[in-house]
Amino acid sequence: MKNLVVITGASSGFGKAMAKEFSKAGYPLLLIARRVELLEQMNLPNALCKKVDVRDKEAFQQAIKEAEEKYGPADLLINNAGIMLLGNIETQDSQEWQNMLDVNVMGTLNGMQAVMNEMKKRQHGTIVNFSSLAGVKTFVNHAVYCATKFGIEGLSETAREELAPYNVRVMRIAPGAVNTELLSHTTSDKIKDNYNAWLEETGVGKITPEDIARTVKFAYEMPQSVNLREIQISDTRQDS
Ligand code: NDP
Repeated sequence: MKNLVVITGASSGFGKAMAKEFSKAGYPLLLIARRVELLEQMNLPNALCKKVDVRDKEAFQQAIKEAEEKYGPADLLINNAGIMLLGNIETQDSQEWQNMLDVNVMGTLNGMQAVMNEMKKRQHGTIVNFSSLAGVKTFVNHAVYCATKFGIEGLSETAREELAPYNVRVMRIAPGAVNTELLSHTTSDKIKDNYNAWLEETGVGKITPEDIARTVKFAYEMPQSVNLREIQISDTRQDS
């Protein structure tokens, strides 16, 4: 059997598409999300589905331990779980800031800490962290989301430097706008309407979660001696 792949946020969007893509290629999976029923509905072979909130470090570690007992060491961790609550600093509820920081940044750190020591010992393994084009450039009404994704860029590149001597890869992928559930959690209808109007105007929207999934799988399946450190990927029509 192939090596164990751990995917967070596998109940929708990119995570769901990656679960299917890696499963099709024969990888055993640990799938993590809060809506475990959506993970189970995919009915993928050799897939352990766990209801875990990535903010809960102990539960996250425990799920990985359980999956490793079943399928062997985790060779790929994809920190994909994330939320985007767009808003303006002047008016946005600070609880929304906290939620984004906790899920996007702390959740990613929790996952990294759960696997990196063993990867170092084995001198093998890959961590893929989901950044965003909002992690390399700014967008209006994205201040705190940008803060979390710029944070992912910084912590990922630091970890890459630290793990490079151990032959462990840290990659970050920075997608542009792709149609998933992501925007739906933003609480301002005006911001959501403006975002959708921008998609309409520009014609951005042909790129799919499956395109992202294939890209991550391609990067992972490059030889361990090759690290695609940073991947920026967007709809061709996205000019920002
Ligand atoms: P979706 O909203 O479709 O999926 C997000 C996933 O994260 C869901 O499976 C959700 O599962 C999970 N999730 C959210 N909070 C938690 C939590 N606390 N614990 C565990 N799982 C959680 O969004 P996308 O697929 O679009 O986003 C995936 C990643 O890609 C995110 O990090 C996002 O920031 C990033 N990204 C997305 C872009 C886009 O345009 N779509 C562009 C650039 C980056 P559940 O609710 O069941 O827990």
